[in-house]
Amino acid sequence: MSETQPAFKLIRAARVIDGTGSPALERGAVLLEGDRIRAVGSEESIAAPEGAPVEEFNYENKTVIPGLVDCHVHLIGMGDGRAGDELTTLPDEVLTLQAARNARTHLFSGVTTVRDCGAKNQTTFRLRQAMEMGITPGPRMVLAGRPVAIVGGHLSYFGVQATGPDECRAAVRQLIKEGADYIKITATGGSTRTSFALRPSFTVEELKAICDEVHKFGKHAAAHCASSQGMSNVLEAGIDTIIHAVHREPDGTSKFRPEIAERIARQGVFVNATLGGGRNRVVTLEKKMQAEGLSEQEQEELDQMRRAHQQRLDDFAKMRELGVQMAAGSDSAWGKYKMGGFQHETDSHVAGGMTPMEAIVAATADSARSCWVQDSVGTLEAGKQADLVVVDGDPSQDIGALWDVADVFLAGDRVDRGNFV
Ligand SMILES: [Zn+2]
Repeated sequence: MSETQPAFKLIRAARVIDGTGSPALERGAVLLEGDRIRAVGSEESIAAPEGAPVEEFNYENKTVIPGLVDCHVHLIGMGDGRAGDELTTLPDEVLTLQAARNARTHLFSGVTTVRDCGAKNQTTFRLRQAMEMGITPGPRMVLAGRPVAIVGGHLSYFGVQATGPDECRAAVRQLIKEGADYIKITATGGSTRTSFALRPSFTVEELKAICDEVHKFGKHAAAHCASSQGMSNVLEAGIDTIIHAVHREPDGTSKFRPEIAERIARQGVFVNATLGGGRNRVVTLEKKMQAEGLSEQEQEELDQMRRAHQQRLDDFAKMRELGVQMAAGSDSAWGKYKMGGFQHETDSHVAGGMTPMEAIVAATADSARSCWVQDSVGTLEAGKQADLVVVDGDPSQDIGALWDVADVFLAGDRVDRGNFV
């Protein structure tokens, strides 16, 4: 016999952090009605309507925060170190199954919204179809489908290579027809073997055509930039998010260009710095060093990774000093960075100078703003989707508490995470 679920859920916790940057509310409560947040406030001030059935949750010594928003994932990635050039040789069916596994893992780790920054063919669109049918669980998804690349450019093997403003506009229209929520551009080369990471890819004229076309549809664009000229070009074209934001010259030298950072801030463009992958690698190698020691080659890799990660942290701090807004995005499961570890990005933001509360905002409200979904998710406010995470301890004091997820609520439902730890 099935009984109807109570429409209301009352969640009480030692503290509630709403994601806006306001101080943690001690002994707070959140009232959910169906898939929405009905009210947020102190324990005494929040109650279900008189006589209404209500399911209660009491979390001692725990904190309720908004569901995390990871503005940069690659759902089809394996995170086992294989290059994208190899990943793309796998059949679409295998990649779609991997995407389903990654979506589930990320949800269980506390991420309730992701922006996918590029997949092969129709794989992520098919995953969304399966999720809407209830076949497999996962976070809310903001999808690019295939990234827009030049011939031989970064991620061009995923299926779109465009030349000239007309083909660029056509690519945008085709992706939106297939269900893209935004457009991902690779504005410089990257790890793709036939691309040039230190050089721009599209011309400014082509980038303008892409940005203009996507804005015409009321949607946004995010651009991969592995070197400085790419950032200048996309800023000229009217981009909404800059990904990676690596301050590097065509000869490979690192050089922070304050005029670029100032322009990013002036135009209100978000930066997704993707620091978590480097931190993940450093932490993994340091653990191995302590447990069993490192080979000479691994020690070299660790030294090199530490230097590179520190450089990125320094540039991150300089950009923030000049007023750049940061949105947290992991870039997992690219390279060796498996999904389920978005918290490496929030840890890195604190290592780069943010307070823990600023890092929480960058991983919730600001990340949602950068994905253009702030009207429905990113903060705990009446009327928004009931996406919440419960963590042990107080992440506004110690950002590491975000790793200790006790429960996840998606659209008002407590997610059954099985024996996930
Ligand atoms: Zn990426």
